[in-house]
Amino acid sequence: ARRPLIAGNWKMNGLKADAELLAGGLASRYKALQKPAFDMLLCPPATLVSVVAGHIAGSGLVLGGQDCHASEKGAHTGDISAWMLRDLGCGYVIVGHSERRADHRESNAVVKDKAQAAQAAGLIAVICIGETEGERDRGEALSVVSEQIRGSLPAGATAQNTVLAYEPVWAIGTGRTPTPDDVAEIHAEARKVANQVMGGGGESLRILYGGSVKPSNAVDFLGLTDVDGALVGGASLKVDDFWAIAQAC
Ligand code: 13P
Repeated sequence: ARRPLIAGNWKMNGLKADAELLAGGLASRYKALQKPAFDMLLCPPATLVSVVAGHIAGSGLVLGGQDCHASEKGAHTGDISAWMLRDLGCGYVIVGHSERRADHRESNAVVKDKAQAAQAAGLIAVICIGETEGERDRGEALSVVSEQIRGSLPAGATAQNTVLAYEPVWAIGTGRTPTPDDVAEIHAEARKVANQVMGGGGESLRILYGGSVKPSNAVDFLGLTDVDGALVGGASLKVDDFWAIAQAC
């Protein structure tokens, strides 16, 4: 059985005081569970990774970055390596988020190199994929997602060092979502393709859904066979909302 992963992507939000409330609030709730049936991951902006690490210490919550460079170190002003994230206590890093693919023109090849670096540093890479609205309207959602998986998964990807996150671009921050049937179809295909790319092991791979997940719709997605958790943006910025989403696992 795949252990559900509830991941919060804070994006470019939060100052130190916000991190204390949010991470501290979630840490005390998670720690109070006798036997948590899900993993909870916080991905704050790079400026807050250390701060959050301090607030979640000993709680069982896990920590991740939102991006990393493909190199270990060097002349890359403003960038952060996977090894640096690991050094701060991260266990995960998101790569290939659609906002990075759009804002920073990251191709599948770039995402693959970043994922490979993450895995080499001992992190679990949360590799994001998802079609645009135009692609869905043209009936290309399945083929786009398959191509992204084939192009973005590095050679050494396994179910242990990789998580896939399906985030249709048009559902991010819009309040609009695909139907559960649509999500089920994409996730089943994603698992099939990932299994081919990885040469087996796809049954254990965690595949998250992301895009306007909130307490009122979480159960619609988290109840699906091939959905192993959620990657949450806006609703991960409130303790009560994010916690309520986790209760739907
Ligand atoms: P929202 O939950 O705000 O739609 O964002 C989803 C997302 O992009 C998470 O990575």
